[in-house]
Amino acid sequence: MDKRPSSCWEWRGKVSHNGYGQFEHKGRSWRAHRYAYTLAKGDIPPGMMVLHSCDNRRCCNPDHLRIGTAKDNWRDAFERNRLTPAQINKFSPRKAS
Ligand SMILES: [Zn+2]
Repeated sequence: MDKRPSSCWEWRGKVSHNGYGQFEHKGRSWRAHRYAYTLAKGDIPPGMMVLHSCDNRRCCNPDHLRIGTAKDNWRDAFERNRLTPAQINKFSPRKAS
């Protein structure tokens, strides 16, 4: 694993169907980036997500991880043009005038 602080620490293990690093620990399945965040910075508040500033789902570099809400995650995806038009419509339905 490349551990320069600025580069992504790519998870080399198992990857879940949606592209996140994943492993089994104490009988439960963990997302690698959430576990990395917990180790480096502490507990994740209930209902919050760990977002990647680098947009690399396999990255476990705590410097690239931050706490956010699902809404923040959507906004990031929107700003990076990662959403399909169908997803955008679902997220922000146009109000009938
Ligand atoms: Zn990264």
